[in-house]
Amino acid sequence: MDIDTIKNFTIKDYHKVYKNKEASPIEITQFFLDRIHLLDSSLRAFLTIDETGALQRARELEEKKLGEADLPPLYGIPMAIKDNICIQGLPTTCGSRILSNYRSPFDATVIEKIKKAGGIFLGKTNMDEFAMGSSTENSGFGPTRNPFDPSRVPGGSSGGSAASVAALEAPLALGSDTGGSVRQPAAFCGIVGLRPTYGRVSRYGLISFASSLDQIGTLTRNVQDTLTLFTVISGQDNRDSTCAPYPPFSFSDDLPENEIKKMKVGVAKEYFNPGVDPVITQRIQEILKILTNEGFEIIEVSLPHTDYALEAYYIVAPAEASSNLARYDGIAYGYRCSHPLNLQDLYTRTRTTGFGKETLRRIILGTYCLSSGYYDEFYLKGMQVRTLVKKDFEDCFEKCDILLTPVTPHLPFKFGEKSHDPYQMYLADVFTIPSAMAGIPALSLNCGYHQHLPIGLQVLGAPFQEGKILSFATFLEKTLSVPPPVIKSVNLKKEVL
Ligand code: GLN
Repeated sequence: MDIDTIKNFTIKDYHKVYKNKEASPIEITQFFLDRIHLLDSSLRAFLTIDETGALQRARELEEKKLGEADLPPLYGIPMAIKDNICIQGLPTTCGSRILSNYRSPFDATVIEKIKKAGGIFLGKTNMDEFAMGSSTENSGFGPTRNPFDPSRVPGGSSGGSAASVAALEAPLALGSDTGGSVRQPAAFCGIVGLRPTYGRVSRYGLISFASSLDQIGTLTRNVQDTLTLFTVISGQDNRDSTCAPYPPFSFSDDLPENEIKKMKVGVAKEYFNPGVDPVITQRIQEILKILTNEGFEIIEVSLPHTDYALEAYYIVAPAEASSNLARYDGIAYGYRCSHPLNLQDLYTRTRTTGFGKETLRRIILGTYCLSSGYYDEFYLKGMQVRTLVKKDFEDCFEKCDILLTPVTPHLPFKFGEKSHDPYQMYLADVFTIPSAMAGIPALSLNCGYHQHLPIGLQVLGAPFQEGKILSFATFLEKTLSVPPPVIKSVNLKKEVL
């Protein structure tokens, strides 16, 4: 197997290869491990590479000797997992020095499900510390680079997962999306990223950032693989009380093409403001023309509270984070400062040296918002705005089936370009945060390139309407036929760090 064959592969193609005995799960796993050895010293998408575990698992799968008909949906498929999702026996650092020596004693529900479905884990991927960020520059272990241009960020916080899939170090990955962390890096790395409806995928074993927003999502090279992986990981879980009481997503939600064309496509003017890079706006306008020619009805809609979503998010998310991160006190988990003088000193020095700057900023911000006398003024207000944002989407999905928007206002930016100004960094998620606040599903699709950099398109739907989003995205992927990323080497000469 070589990269030119594998670059267009879907899971079904790997299964065909297994069935025809052209390659075995061990050989395919070794192919991706070789890619990691070739590229990852420059790319740094992985924090842990579990070579022994991956090959051992591939061997176990081979020994099972299954016929094609009984192949479980992810049989023999290697995967990369964001380092805030627990795999038993492997480190789970959340990109933070405070958890640098933590190994998970249990599997997250999604990991259990993937194991049952025959998946193989290549390792754990780099991320902004505790998923706070949009570039992986906040990782406690150094940033990941964008495979298209190593002087640019891969997006974040699931930047390691997105870069690994774009560079074909792994065919699939899992990430987490609190305000855009699956969709934004998917857009920056030219792949497909799905944030499911809040509650569609169990959060058990996902280390919490902001519990009312966190959602595990998928990163793949094509829409079909998103469908397969999402089907495997979705469904009710008694260990997560916020998980919706529905069975796993089913393939039968997939619509035939003539039905897809009956979908009404909404376009919201709030997402096409002068702050958006004209290259992105122009590409989306071209796509709207293509859709009109294909017979789709395009409807203009308005989401009037869009502008307030970001501000409200930066109250709600830090408030929840400050509470969730209180557990890292140097006693129960991970890092502890050396020679503490007393309990107070233990807490203070463990936390000030264990956490990075952005995480400390969020903890301080969140603690302030929740402090007595300010709760009503900040957290409560933030939640009220959140209700208005949610209502905007409810009104909008009475008029249309899906919404099309940019994923990000800009193409992948350079290292250091936004890291000195937190507000500029926060703006990178201005188009992904409103839907996260509303808890609705959204997908990021590569819709073209500008000067070798990918452009993302966001497809949004009503709660639990992933079927519509995925059917539409399948149609669009076929119609646009944008080539998937092919990275042969990572040229560090352009490096500016
Ligand atoms: N960039 C946003 C933040 O820093 C979103 C992160 C995420 O989705 N995990 O909070």
